[in-house]
Amino acid sequence: VLEVRDLHKSFGHLNVLNGINLKIEKGETIVIIGPSGGGKSTFLRCINHLEDYQKGEIIFLGQKIDRHTTNLNEIRTKIGMVFQHFNLFPHMSVLENLILAPTKVKKIPEKEAIEKAKKILERVGLIEKIEAYPDNLSGGQKQRVAIARALMMEPVLMLFDEPTSALDPELVGEVLEVMKDLARSGMTMIVVTHEMGFAKEVADRIIFIDKGVIVEEGTPDEIMKNPKNQRTKEFLRHIL
Ligand code: ATP
Ligand code: MG
Repeated sequence: VLEVRDLHKSFGHLNVLNGINLKIEKGETIVIIGPSGGGKSTFLRCINHLEDYQKGEIIFLGQKIDRHTTNLNEIRTKIGMVFQHFNLFPHMSVLENLILAPTKVKKIPEKEAIEKAKKILERVGLIEKIEAYPDNLSGGQKQRVAIARALMMEPVLMLFDEPTSALDPELVGEVLEVMKDLARSGMTMIVVTHEMGFAKEVADRIIFIDKGVIVEEGTPDEIMKNPKNQRTKEFLRHIL
């Protein structure tokens, strides 16, 4: 699905990504962990070209994504992104949030989009909130709506950037459950999170990024029980 080769990204003189290599196959879930400022968000943002990069290649479904890519909007419909803050449209109901992009960007008939929205809201456990407005939802519910909204576009790849880190602890679980369900259903996902229970249950690989390089990668067992690198060890000691 996605291949990243020798990706380098800097902001001015600040080198943020220093040669990232990553391949993700269909159906895989990859969890990215690492210290603050290590480049995790920048890496995700390069994938759907919210950030340009200086060197290397990003190949998604066989197509190179860079500043010359002319069908970026089409590509972005295939890459769902969920952030720490939910970015729902506050003046629109849950249903309106969900059907906006499919009807406007993909030109799906409204009736069809509404049917689809209902199915997806069932799946994330929020069908009873279909007419609600974001302000009247809990953080966990908002984040589940954000995931539902991304799913409306039938993405091939889902990127999650610390989707639960802004939530009250008691709301984290419901969002992780939706993400686990998605991973198990065969979605291809890259998830930046420090929720190691989630990683252990559904990650095919965990990648530790620090100072813009992949310091270590392996299965959850390998990384959590037997990290080889000193930096990985120290980091895990802090978060576990
Ligand atoms: P966190 O765990 O805190 O979210 P991160 O691993 O996601 O950290 P990034 O947000 O990718 O880290 O940031 C990597 C580095 O790039 C940081 O030093 C940050 O200050 C810098 N940076 C990020 N975005 C920009 C920008 N638009 N302009 C300049 N510097 C930036
Ligand atoms: Mg980040």
